[in-house]
This record gives sequence, structure tokens and C-alpha cells, in this order.
Amino acid sequence: MMSTKDPVVFEVEWNACIKCGACVAVCPQEAGFTSSFDTIAVNKACDIACMFCQTVCPVNAITHQTLFSTEAAVF
Ligand code: SF4
Repeated sequence: MMSTKDPVVFEVEWNACIKCGACVAVCPQEAGFTSSFDTIAVNKACDIACMFCQTVCPVNAITHQTLFSTEAAVF
């Protein structure tokens, strides 16, 4: 394995999201890892994959898919 963690891409169920901002608040990514609805980014690969946002979301609106990429290692 090239890296210990595979990057993920998050999805937000917009009908469920109450726009509380909790996901962005706990996100360790650099500034700007947000969607146009002020949630965590949904169209970018996250290489940290800590899942804090998914854990903190009060309405379980966040899901993710794992990317299996050979170019994933950035550390
Ligand atoms: S934590 Fe969940 S409900 Fe709150 S803004 Fe993020 S996706 Fe929406």
C-alpha cells in the first residue's frame, strides 16, 4: 500500500442538512474546504479522512465514498 488512508469524497443530503456549520467547524482541512452551502466540500477529495464532520453532523446528512487512487499519497 502506498498510503495508510485512502482519500474520500463527502456527500451531503441537502434536504436533511440544517446548515448548522458544525461540519466546517470541526474540519481540520485548510480554509476553503467548503461547499457553496457552507458545509464541508462535497466535490473535492479529502486526504485527511478523519470523519469528524460525519461524526459531528446532528442529522447524519454526511456520507462519503472512498477513492482508490494510486496518486493518493500526499504525506
Ligand atoms: S454538520 Fe450536517 S447539518 Fe450541520 S451544516 Fe454540516 S452537513 Fe449540514
